[in-house]
Amino acid sequence: MTNPLIGITSNYSTMPLSLLTSSTLQRSYITAVIKAGGIPLIIPSDIDEIGWKELTTRLDGILFSGGGDIATDYFNGEDHPAISGIEPARDALELGMVREVVAAGKPFLGICRGLQSVNVALGGTLYTHIPDQVPNSLVHEQERGEDASSRTELGHAVSIQPGTYLARVTGQTRLNVNSFHHQGIKDLAPGLLVSAQSPDGVIEAVELPNHPFGLAVQWHPEWLVDIESELAIFKAFVDAAAGRLNFKNGIISGRFAQQID
Ligand code: MN
Repeated sequence: MTNPLIGITSNYSTMPLSLLTSSTLQRSYITAVIKAGGIPLIIPSDIDEIGWKELTTRLDGILFSGGGDIATDYFNGEDHPAISGIEPARDALELGMVREVVAAGKPFLGICRGLQSVNVALGGTLYTHIPDQVPNSLVHEQERGEDASSRTELGHAVSIQPGTYLARVTGQTRLNVNSFHHQGIKDLAPGLLVSAQSPDGVIEAVELPNHPFGLAVQWHPEWLVDIESELAIFKAFVDAAAGRLNFKNGIISGRFAQQID
């Protein structure tokens, strides 16, 4: 297989000057998947359980994208006035799909909310507002400007655990990243491994050992694909979806072979 099919989860939104709703996804996710050699497909949240289970079977890889907050009911989270953007259908679909891709051994990548979805789906919990719940936390919610330039600004560093998938894929033990989140992982789900943290201890990346490719990051690499180490995350994901890379079986071929040995 050359170009794998990559499903990307999406938001609901109301169109400007209208009450009509749309399924929406920032194009940066789409362009990053295309740049890495994948064929992107937007997954609307309306699909029922029979539908998303069928989709999971047919897709080669699934990208859990950024978005609003996950309902606290799913992780017995602390209520907070800053919680926003809850979409019940999206919560149900994504948390179900995470468990499905984990059970099926299907490659997945989580970004921002996607990292939080992976953790909650597998039994972890979240801080519902980092500035009030993590002492001495750094600024994790950068200013969101009108144009793309605000998304490529690098707000804080992350230290990457040597030997992890993330370290192997990026070839780095430290990265400066962008940061657009007010929530984050509190209790790590059983089975997940922390692969990166910011200097204040906030978990910035997790991965699923013994999975063909299971990685999630709290920052937004889709805005940073001009940086080789960030594009490498998408390339490794697409390669795994195409069957060219498999961390579980140690079948490593193609462009990451040397970095991994
Ligand atoms: Mn951050």
